[in-house]
Amino acid sequence: MPIWNPWHGCHKISPGCRNCYVYRRDESIGKDASIVSKTGYYELPLKKNRQGEYKLRPEDGVVYTCMTSDFFLDVADDWRHGCWDIIRQRSDLHFHIITKRIDRFAECIPDDWGDGWDNVTISSTCEDQDRADYRLPILLDLPIKHRRVISEPMLEEINIEKYLATGRIEQVTCGGESGAKARLCDFNWVKELRRQCIRAGVPFYFKQTGALFLKDGRKYHIDRKIQMSQATKSGYSYTPGENSGAAIRYTLPDRNTLFARLAKSDFRSRFHLSGDDRDYISEKGLAVIASHAADFVAKKLAPENPPKDGKQTPMRGHPVFLAQHATACCCRGCLEKWHNIPSGKVLTAEEQEYIVSVIMDWIKRELHY
Ligand code: SF4
Repeated sequence: MPIWNPWHGCHKISPGCRNCYVYRRDESIGKDASIVSKTGYYELPLKKNRQGEYKLRPEDGVVYTCMTSDFFLDVADDWRHGCWDIIRQRSDLHFHIITKRIDRFAECIPDDWGDGWDNVTISSTCEDQDRADYRLPILLDLPIKHRRVISEPMLEEINIEKYLATGRIEQVTCGGESGAKARLCDFNWVKELRRQCIRAGVPFYFKQTGALFLKDGRKYHIDRKIQMSQATKSGYSYTPGENSGAAIRYTLPDRNTLFARLAKSDFRSRFHLSGDDRDYISEKGLAVIASHAADFVAKKLAPENPPKDGKQTPMRGHPVFLAQHATACCCRGCLEKWHNIPSGKVLTAEEQEYIVSVIMDWIKRELHY
């Protein structure tokens, strides 16, 4: 991955900066990362080798730009114009700029920026909900051809559904924090953000676990060397249409434990069959009700990204609907939270059978079979 660092050093501006890796790395060699200076690589994209060819070639991939600073840092205002000139000249390369200063973007763009340049992707970071709600409306309003969102280090659960729904965010990346003083990253936050991306059909990249990772109630200290590979292994990145959740390993809950948990939920335990539901079941017979359940599951839950996911199961109108809410088999988010069945994949025949069996189990328990 080509990296172009035209200047080095930065100033901390938000909670995500607390354990900034630029500061950590500089400290380890006795350097002060708050001193910002132009590097010897300022013109790197224009440099050529002895054969007269550019050293940075399009086939080597996206050029990650300003990775040891922030491209929109005020101290670098006098140097940025030169970078835009270089980016303009190297229209054959694609430049990716990640910033915590999206609010400075409008005052920092060149005169001929127009509605954005095709060869530039701008990623706004948002480590928490406050930063998301401040920065993402700005990101969406700006003239940018390629927009991404990065939540790294992810410091809390964030909801960015309304921003994803605009269809103007091309990818979301998230990850935990690295380093000795790393703050915790909870896998549930990662899964929730992933679910939002799946619902919006936006690619999601789970980049790294970070050094302190909470999963299934246990804290893990993860060695730097495997933070990225562990995230990759989890299979939790998502590309629409690629059935990516198939790689995720999971264990279905024990049936008695599941029903005990459901009984403790105020929301789930309030569902019960009405007299009409009981009459309907008795008229149709359990085999027919099970076939209805199988049909609903196949149509409304089984697709990789079911339409209106989260709202596809009515609250009444059929005993199976009640059973679905009572057993958390009503949408893909609930299937993941309660049954561990990953979102973002087509449900297998076995998974569909399992869901139907849970639904029928609840109905039989209601009928005291
Ligand atoms: S903006 Fe980025 S590079 Fe600058 S201090 Fe914050 S984390 Fe570090």
